[in-house]
Amino acid sequence: MPLPKVKIDVIREKCYLCGSCVAVCPKEAIIIENDEWMFFQEKCISCKFCVLACPVGALNAIPLEEE
Ligand code: SF4
Ligand code: SF4
Repeated sequence: MPLPKVKIDVIREKCYLCGSCVAVCPKEAIIIENDEWMFFQEKCISCKFCVLACPVGALNAIPLEEE
């Protein structure tokens, strides 16, 4: 059974670009470049490790509609 698909959303006012989410993502679906947090849906396997790893609760997993 695949995990329910989610989109990872960042609350930019909370995120201080610590990189913890980048470090735990097994698929490099999050990167921080030029002081910008970026998410790549096509790489994400919806494990939510990033959401758990964020020390300030800046990430949310938004369920995606199943095709
Ligand atoms: S849910 Fe998993 S695969 Fe997707 S961005 Fe977060 S850590 Fe990476
Ligand atoms: S773990 Fe949280 S605060 Fe750190 S870079 Fe990721 S979203 Fe931002």
